Formats: sequence, structure tokens, C-alpha cells
Amino acid sequence: MKLEIVQAGDPVLRQLARPLLADEIAAPGLQQTIADMLETLRLAPGVGLAAPQIGLGLQLAIIEDRPQYHAAWTPEQLRARQRRPVDFHVLINPELEIDSHSQVEFFEGCLSVAGYTAEVGRHCRVRVRYLDQHGEKQVVEAEGWYARILQHEIDHLNGTLYIDRMKPRTFMSLANYQDRWRNAEDEARRIFG
Ligand code: ZN
Repeated sequence: MKLEIVQAGDPVLRQLARPLLADEIAAPGLQQTIADMLETLRLAPGVGLAAPQIGLGLQLAIIEDRPQYHAAWTPEQLRARQRRPVDFHVLINPELEIDSHSQVEFFEGCLSVAGYTAEVGRHCRVRVRYLDQHGEKQVVEAEGWYARILQHEIDHLNGTLYIDRMKPRTFMSLANYQDRWRNAEDEARRIFG
């Protein structure tokens, strides 16, 4: 079932989500929620969705970066972003560890700030410890765009939106970004940075 994605201004997006308990992870209701979140994410479409975005203050997020989403980008843009496909997976009670001192700045958006984008600095490499949908402990080491997605989704679980981290003068409508700046990001940086 497709779920409604809540928009900025809904208090749930600004609250600290609570961790899931073992018996909640095992309950069939959670598996249904995850299936609904995946359907919602693919229809949006997007590469990540956190439970607060569907109105649930829980430490739960899903990620999936499908190869077909990359078709609109040039090989150079994909290389610069270190963007590679990421299989669907579920993060429960994640703990983020920053694994690099440097940050990279790229435009990103959010399904809960629909229609806008801005440049955001994110750490290049991260390590995340989490439980999967079966409650099994997992660790992932990620770099590039995948690391960016992880930081964005885990921010959601802490009540943080990208607009808290963006370079404010780069904030723009997605339509303007696509029409004017997507292929001239360096220029955008000079003008808005
Ligand atoms: Zn978001």
C-alpha cells in the first residue's frame, strides 16, 4: 500500500525517533510496514525513506538506489558522486560512525521537502552498525553517494533535515536546478556558494 510522505512542518520530522524492540522487529506488522515503505519509495521515486517520513517516530529506514535511476546522469557525474547501485536493504536502530575527515558537496533533495534541492556537505566515508529486518546485526562501510544516503536517512531518525546542513544560498527549486544548474554545478557553486 502506498503511504503518504509527510512534508516539512510535520512535528514527527523534528523528533528523535525511538529504537525498535526485538519483539517489535519480529512482529508481522513491521514486515508489512517495510513492504509499504518500499512501494512508496519506488513510486516517489527516491533512494531512501525513513519511518518519520511516513509519520512513524521509529528508528527504521530503507535504502535502494536502482541502476535505472542512474540513466539521467552522465558517466562523469556518476563518477564524481561515486554513485553506484545499492540493493534494497532495511536499517533498524542504526549507529553512524564517520570514517573520513573530508566532506564533499553536492546537491541533494528530500521527499519531505518536495520540489527543492540544495548543496549539502557530507562525509565521504561512513560505517553504520544496524539491525536488518530479521533483527540480525549488520555492519556496512560505505563511500560516496551511498554514504550520503546513509547520512541523510540517519539524520531523519534524529529529527534533522538536509536544510539544516545545506549552504542556504544554493537552495532552489528542482525545476530550476534541472533547467539551469545541473550541468553547471561549478558555476552554481560560484554564484550561490
Ligand atoms: Zn529526506
